[in-house]
Order: sequence, then structure tokens, then C-alpha cells
Amino acid sequence: MNETISLCYHGVSPSWPDAMAVTQQQLHSQVAWFMRRGYRPVTVREAARPGGGKRLAITFDDALLSVHELALPVLERLGAIATVYAPSVPIAEQTPMAWPEVARHLQTEHARELEPMTAGQLRAVAAQGWEVGSHTRTHPWLPRVADDGELRHELEGSKRELEALLELELATLAYPFGAHDERVAAATAAAGYEAAVTLPVRVPAWPAQPSAHELMRLPRIGVYRVDEWRRFRVKVARPVRLLRASSLWDLVRRG
Ligand SMILES: [Zn+2]
Repeated sequence: MNETISLCYHGVSPSWPDAMAVTQQQLHSQVAWFMRRGYRPVTVREAARPGGGKRLAITFDDALLSVHELALPVLERLGAIATVYAPSVPIAEQTPMAWPEVARHLQTEHARELEPMTAGQLRAVAAQGWEVGSHTRTHPWLPRVADDGELRHELEGSKRELEALLELELATLAYPFGAHDERVAAATAAAGYEAAVTLPVRVPAWPAQPSAHELMRLPRIGVYRVDEWRRFRVKVARPVRLLRASSLWDLVRRG
């Protein structure tokens, strides 16, 4: 069987009650479950290319410090690799993630959860076979960036800045919040990315031989703290994935 599945995580934390963070136990059992079923962990760059077998592209958006501290040891133990999507400005300036959707956490005891990985940590995971991709410069909703020059700066600028900082080539991008439209996808391709990943409500199957159009819209399944074992199993079960790919999903959600 040929099948590729991509999971989208953010942070890993034993105590942060936010949807963005799973526990180490959740991450371990979820990845181990796929690996027991013969899925081979690959980077998004590899998953975007035609290839056989069962492939699992694990991704972490935002390049939070907890990915290095807590996710990396879990994946090392499992012999798995992942792709981490870094916003270039917080990484370069070593400032916490502070866009409006997460800034409220900075006033709480969980503020440290928004600390970024360091450039050295990103270089180190890349040396272990992980992929580092771009998550733009400042993590805006890209479709709302009306100015073309500003949009290009978020896409090209983040690639250029991270490539210089990390001495790596960046090949793929994750749209912040998964948000994209025709204009954003076209600008992403024009900025030199081979592929880009999304976070759709309706998750289509990962294309076996992606077209140029599909390469800028590769779908991931978001995994959150509420995804306890049973819920996760239901979420990734093939019939549910097929259902989520169809228009029936809207009816189910409404029901
Ligand atoms: Zn993000």
C-alpha cells in the first residue's frame, strides 16, 4: 500500500493546558502507533516527492523550545524524524512567539511555552535528519496581507533569513494557521519553495504524485491536546479520513 499521512503538532508540555500542546505520552503513543503499522517517518520535502510505501510526515509548527526539549527525545527513542516550521523573526531575535492569537499566554505562568528554539538547536536537529522549513517571518494570516511586497517579504524574506542563519537550504513552508488562498499559494511557489503544507478542516488524501497546484497545498491533520487515545485513533482511522475528505464532513460537523 502507498499512503502518506502528515500530522501537525505545535508544542509539547506536561502542564500547559492549551490545545497547542500535547504531552510526551500522547506524542509517543501516536507516532509509535503509526510506526507499528509500517509507516516510515519522512520529512515533508521527501513526502512531497513521489515515493512508495507508507510514509508519515510529522511536523511541528512555530519551532517552540519544547520541540527540542520534549519532542526530540521522544522521536529519537522511536527512531523518527520530523519537520519543524520556524518563523524567522522570533528565531533570529530569540523573542517569544507573540502574535495576537497566542500573546495572552505571555501573561501567564505558561509564558515559557512560547520561547523559540535557538538557531543552534535547529541546526542540530537538521544534522540528525530533520527538515527545517519556513513559517514566514512574523506569522501573519497571509491572505490578509494585502500588500504584494509585504507578502513577498514574509515568504522570500523568511527563507533567505533562515538559510543565512542556519546555513541550510529551506525547501518547504507551512502557512501560519494553514491559511492560504490562490494568491498566497502562487506567491509561495514564486518565492522558490518546492512545497507548502496546510491545515484544512476537510483533509483530502495526500497526493501520491503531487501536481504543481497540489504541491502548494499538501494537507496535514492537526493533532491537539484534546486528542486523547480514542479520539486520535478515530481521527486518523482511514474511514474517518475518507469522510473528512468528502463534503459529507460538513454535514457531520453541523450535525
Ligand atoms: Zn504557527
